[in-house]
Amino acid sequence: MEKEEIESFQQFILDKSKNGQKANILALVGSGLSVSSGLHTYGNNSDLASNVSWRNYSSIDLATPDAFETNPGLVWLFYAYRRHLALLATPNNGHKILADLSNLTSNLNFLTITQNMDGLHERVHHNSDSLLEFHGSLFEVICTNFNCNYRSFNFNDPLTPSLDVTKYIDSKTMELPKIENISQLPLCPICGTLLRPGVIWFGEALPLYLIDKADEFIIDYNIDILLIIGTSHSIWPTSSYIDLIKNQGGKIAVFNTIRDLELEKLNSTTKVWQFIGDCATTLPEIFNPILINWKNSQ
Ligand SMILES: [Zn+2]
Repeated sequence: MEKEEIESFQQFILDKSKNGQKANILALVGSGLSVSSGLHTYGNNSDLASNVSWRNYSSIDLATPDAFETNPGLVWLFYAYRRHLALLATPNNGHKILADLSNLTSNLNFLTITQNMDGLHERVHHNSDSLLEFHGSLFEVICTNFNCNYRSFNFNDPLTPSLDVTKYIDSKTMELPKIENISQLPLCPICGTLLRPGVIWFGEALPLYLIDKADEFIIDYNIDILLIIGTSHSIWPTSSYIDLIKNQGGKIAVFNTIRDLELEKLNSTTKVWQFIGDCATTLPEIFNPILINWKNSQ
């Protein structure tokens, strides 16, 4: 990374947060940050390209309301497996620095919109008021009874004895159990109906309150800088926010393993910093000096 680029970025943020002002920062986080923690992603409704197979099923076969209706046991096993892997992963220094930023409410207005469902932001205590999980969470469960609004968040593993995946995790050939009885699956403690994973499936719309919350933040705070972390300009929701923030006069900083050539073209009208490397390393390297500066100036 070029030293001058790093310094000009740091100075930009410090200038925005001096004399009692707060810097307004929106972070868009994609799968690259989870990859740095050793987690593979299994695709979701905006990221069809990363559709990865699991035991001969593609995630498009399993991550749909239809699949859940037809075979809730199989779909729950898939999510139990993903919960288990996510719990085995360790949040990295990129997750930690975003959590630090989210808790520094005296220096900045900060919001993270993440595409990741793996709970790694929560595990390093990212401020929950400034975290929007646009694709839901592997660790949320939601009641499927239309008249019941039960939903809860937990890191239990396994969720039920039948969803203990430790026996199958290392063996790709061992046959998965057939769970045919709903009572073996997570059930609502209020009404007894089957619970479902709190993730957004293919064909499902994003909850409106999430989009509204993101829009409100952008309108209320007039974003100084958009951080694009471990994702590409072309992947939604990043794609939809770039123009909005550019039109507000905001700048862009990319933290990714590859240079975003499309965003580079914006550089003539909007400043775009690109910090190439593992974002678990580049994020703390660039933000820690800013955090120290804020701390010292208090
Ligand atoms: Zn219920």
